[in-house]
This record gives sequence, structure tokens and C-alpha cells, in this order.
Amino acid sequence: MRAVHADVVVTGDADPIRDGAVVVDPGGCVVDVGPAGAVLPRHAGASVERVRGVLLPGLVNAHTHLELSALRGQVRGGAGFVPWVEELMGMRAESRPEDDAPAIDRAVDELDAFGTAAVGEVTNSLAAVWPLARRNIAGCVFHEVFGVEREPIERRLADLPKMVEARVGAWPTTDLAYAPSPHTLYTTHADVVRRLARDARDRGQRASVHLAEHAAERRFLESGDGPIADWYQSRLKLRRELIEWPGKASVALADELGVLGPHVLCVHLTDARPEELDLVARRGAFVVFCPRSNLHIEAKLPPLLAASSAGLLPALGTDSLASNASLDVLAEARALADRFPTVRRSDLVRMATWEGARALGRGDLGRIANGARPGLLAIDGAPGDDACAFVLANLRAPRRWIVRRAEARQA
Ligand SMILES: [Zn+2]
Repeated sequence: MRAVHADVVVTGDADPIRDGAVVVDPGGCVVDVGPAGAVLPRHAGASVERVRGVLLPGLVNAHTHLELSALRGQVRGGAGFVPWVEELMGMRAESRPEDDAPAIDRAVDELDAFGTAAVGEVTNSLAAVWPLARRNIAGCVFHEVFGVEREPIERRLADLPKMVEARVGAWPTTDLAYAPSPHTLYTTHADVVRRLARDARDRGQRASVHLAEHAAERRFLESGDGPIADWYQSRLKLRRELIEWPGKASVALADELGVLGPHVLCVHLTDARPEELDLVARRGAFVVFCPRSNLHIEAKLPPLLAASSAGLLPALGTDSLASNASLDVLAEARALADRFPTVRRSDLVRMATWEGARALGRGDLGRIANGARPGLLAIDGAPGDDACAFVLANLRAPRRWIVRRAEARQA
């Protein structure tokens, strides 16, 4: 047994424990946590490591696109989603596929150095599956399904296992779940969205969808015009009359298609209105906010206060390096802390840990609790009265894995 005694244990799912201790078994599984004065005497034979600072569970970054890592810092933002994605697609067309692998490896190394235990990785190429597995980063791989044209669903879905076979081979680990997922409600045909949501629910899996990200999405889905329709027509040469649109906004449409529920992560909701957030909350859906990506692309923040009023505490994700400066999920929490001073810092850290694990369906991660194997992360320093405020104020402080999740698997 191994004990870690820290100035403060930030558990992720409960109040921080001042002068706390955690005991893990050789497999990295938490067997005891609480005030040091109570925990340590119960494990007299354990070796004790002292952390002068804060102990956290491994972080959970619930929304990434690692395959875009080669575009780090290259795609300008601030003009809205369509200009951003136009530039992104232009750069992707010019980029060399051989540059992707080293950029992904580097990004995964950075995830590990930031203290990330799990991700929700949204992908077309599946190129990050093996790099994540090699670093023992857990979570979900959401394999995106695109296409607004009517086409037999069966054929489109039947291609997915062939892609997995060709690009991944034998799936490397049960620690990474796999689920086909719709990209958005305006880029994936409604019949496919309905089918993917139903499959995820029936299989007890999580899928993911970008939902209510920006005003152009609402306009296209409601009225069939605006920047998205123009983009389809000019860029993709899709004649407007061939595009079906439902005449209702994303959240209502998602509900109609069976998307709203605990089986689908609703990512962004930046453009969602209070009554739409209420509906998402009533359906028990998990929400992921990506504040720094929204700020980069749209110069807009996700509706944290309205979500909170609706009873939602979202998970956090970085989105890709094509719309963000780093893959540090604590920097997402910090971005919200800077702009929403009334929100409790402990809630923001919880969003970067336990809420992410819940969203990904991983009760064993994101919290320092008996039976969990979250990985233990230390941030050295003097935490003061509010350990979570200290964590968010000191993003540049070195983070050290005290117990790596990798050790847990090898044990
Ligand atoms: Zn995304």
C-alpha cells in the first residue's frame, strides 16, 4: 500500500480535504481517502509520500480532435464558424499527411504532461487511437459520420468497421471505448443521427455531437439559409433545393431525433437559449463546454450561468489545436474563472475532472474516491484558503504524476 499525504486533497466529486491523505493499492486503486489524521493510522504499514501542495485526480478533457494537431496556431479565428472552417479545410487540403503523426504524438505527450487521464476524442482518421493507447490515456473515441445527402444509412455505417480495420487494426485497449457519432445536426443526415443515437443508447455507450455551437447553425436548421447554406452551395456545390432542413433549431431537433439523453454528449451549446438548456437538463444529457475554442472561433463564451440555472454542470474540453492554444483542460476552467467570478472555483475544477469522467461514462476516473483509479496528480506550492483557486491561478506550476494511471494497468 502507498499513502499520499497532501496539504489539500481535491477529490473532484466532493469538497476538498485539508490536510488530507489518500491510500492506493499496488494497482493504483484508491482504498481510502479522508483527513490524514484519520486515514494514516488505519494504514500503518503503508509508505507515506508527502506533497506540499494540492493532490488532484487525473484530468478529463472531454472534447478533443487530436488529428488536427498539425494545424496548431495556424487557423485564424474571430470571424465566426464558417470562415474558420473554410480556412481549416483549405489548410487540411494543403497539409501533408506525414506531418500528422508527429504532431499527434506531441499533442498526446502534452496531454499526459498536463495530467490528463482521459479524453473524449472526436475523429475521422482514427489516427490518435494508438498514440492514446500507448500513453495509457483512457476515454472514448467518437468516430464521426458526415453527410447531408440521402443515401442508404446501412452502407454508410457498414463502412465504419472497415475503416477501423484498415486504420487501427486490432483495437488496442478496452480503456478506449469506440462509438460512431454524428458530426452535427447540419452536416449529418437526420436519419443517420437518429440511428447513431439509438445505437449508442441500445449498446449502453456514449456518442457525441456538436450541438448549438453558433448562430449560423440555428439559422440554417430553422430557415435553410445564412452562412451555412451559402457555404454548402459555394464550397460543396450542393444545390440548396437538395438540402433538407427541418425548420427547427438544434436542441429541439436533437430531442426529436432521440439525441438528448445520457447516451450522447452535447458539445458546445454556446448558442443555446435558457429554455433549450432546460430541455437538455430535463433529458439528463451530458454537456461539454469548450470555452477557449468558442472564444477563438466566435469570440463568444458558453452560457455557464444559464446552464447552472438549468441545473447543468458541464464537462470541459479543449477542442483541437486548430482553435486553441493548448490541450490543457484546466486552462478551460481558468478561462471560465476569469470571466465568471461568481462561479465557485471548486465547481470549475470538478468540471475538468469528475464531470468529464461522468460524461464519458467512467465512474473509475476523475475523482479520488474509494474504488476509483483516477491517477494522482500533484501541484506543489502553498494552496492558501481555496485550493481550487490556487490550482486555477497556477497553471504554469509543474504538475507531477504521483500515481500514474499507467501503473494501475501494468500492476
Ligand atoms: Zn469539436
